[in-house]
Amino acid sequence: THFGFQTINESEKSQKVHKVFQDVARNYDKMNDAMSFGIHRIWKDIFMMRLAPTKNTKLLDVAGGTGDIAFRFLNYMKHSNCEECHVVVSDINENMLKVGKQRSEDLKYNPKLISWQQADAESLPFKDNSFNAYTIAFGLRNVTHIEKALEEAYRVLQPGGRFMCLEFSQLNNSTLQWFYDQYSFQVIPTLGHIIAGQWHAYQYLVESIRKFPNQEKLLELVQQTGFQDITYENLSMGIVAIHSGFKL
Ligand code: SAM
Repeated sequence: THFGFQTINESEKSQKVHKVFQDVARNYDKMNDAMSFGIHRIWKDIFMMRLAPTKNTKLLDVAGGTGDIAFRFLNYMKHSNCEECHVVVSDINENMLKVGKQRSEDLKYNPKLISWQQADAESLPFKDNSFNAYTIAFGLRNVTHIEKALEEAYRVLQPGGRFMCLEFSQLNNSTLQWFYDQYSFQVIPTLGHIIAGQWHAYQYLVESIRKFPNQEKLLELVQQTGFQDITYENLSMGIVAIHSGFKL
């Protein structure tokens, strides 16, 4: 059977997520471009524009993988006078972080402004109130207990700090959703097989998108954690959504 279609228990899920990203790390960036026709870059650019960091932003990017959000943060800060700005990229998977660190060196980012920390989103190794911004992009659907990850986000943010999540969501038109599902279930695993030799890993990714709470449900979960002023914005008609909330 294909594991994407099995009912898996919690510890199986975390092991499988770990294995998926361990296996795809090297080809992760290439695959993102192929699967989304490069559009993930635009979604991430918009995400950073919405965060609109300032010279004092201390950002924690959780499930930060190979650094896409952190690099956008640093690019954004190039134009402002970064006084205390800093980004910590944290991810549960050491292979993804390894690829990210190498990219950071190759792209010549200032190592003082970025650090890398292996960590589980559900139990972060940071003190309470340590950051004034928290981002998680295409990461929340991979954690086993979303609520725990949200509680940790709340805990490590300072009062006034902002939570932002970029994640696959649901299209607001059922016909388009049908076409999108066909694309996802047929094309993505095939591309995963051709480009990365990983059919099952990409089938898991598609399945995890299906199971993830839709825009309204995620908003509720964020609200239940204690965040306030919560909003969401659909991009590409809801293929992805940006949720934002504040710890007040
Ligand atoms: N944020 C990056 C981006 O947008 O390109 C990477 C997203 S990638 C689809 C998902 C990442 O979530 C992987 O790097 C994976 O290792 C990480 N991940 C999965 N479960 C996690 C957990 N419990 N805690 C932290 N990171 C996790």
